[in-house]
Amino acid sequence: MRLLVLGSAGSYPAPASACSSYLLQHDGYQLLIDAGNGSMSNLYNFTTPANLDAVFLSHPHIDHLADFVGIYHYRKYVSVSKERLKVFAGSKTLGLLESLVGSEMYDIVDATVLDNEARFEAGPFVASVAKMAHPVQTFGLRVESGGKVFAYSADTGPCASLEALSEEADFLLCESTWVEDSDSHPKDLHMTVSQAVSAARNANAKKLVITHVAYPNSPFVALARAREIGELPVEHAFELEEHSI
Ligand SMILES: [Zn+2]
Repeated sequence: MRLLVLGSAGSYPAPASACSSYLLQHDGYQLLIDAGNGSMSNLYNFTTPANLDAVFLSHPHIDHLADFVGIYHYRKYVSVSKERLKVFAGSKTLGLLESLVGSEMYDIVDATVLDNEARFEAGPFVASVAKMAHPVQTFGLRVESGGKVFAYSADTGPCASLEALSEEADFLLCESTWVEDSDSHPKDLHMTVSQAVSAARNANAKKLVITHVAYPNSPFVALARAREIGELPVEHAFELEEHSI
């Protein structure tokens, strides 16, 4: 598998950095994972909205789905002959999409409604989801393909379901909104760098890739901190970078 980073800013855009979106590719199949604000611009570096096969949206927060609206309009008005777009999302996320673009969305979208512990297949990807610790209905994602395992935390506080989802993952893409631990961070909302490292170690993940560092926290400082304490290979999901899984 190959993961292309279209956006990794946490919660809102950072200077010259779009919000969460990742393109997972294998065997010519393209699964878009989240579509945060600003990320559609970066998609054109690798493909066009017309060539997406499927979209997974983790939860109904704007920094994870805003640019689905642009992708939808591109598919509807520019590439009208393209096959229907598969969308995998929870009921709350689909409800927000309907309020943004209308129920005629289903004229060109095939939606699969995810619930806790749902499993689905999309092209070469065999996927499962788990409910994360976040104030809205949020699903983390586990994808197996080509003998490798990719796991994605979406947005979450520390939780057992993230560790179960990431068990023995070759590549754990995990949010690290905050660099420093602090009692003032709200519970069940986001994670710190050390909490992401703990989740990766407890899951026995082979590699941790941190993301969703919220400005003005620095991804470079977050990465240095994660490497200092990590005891496993750690990277940061810098925008427009490619990662092999
Ligand atoms: Zn969120």
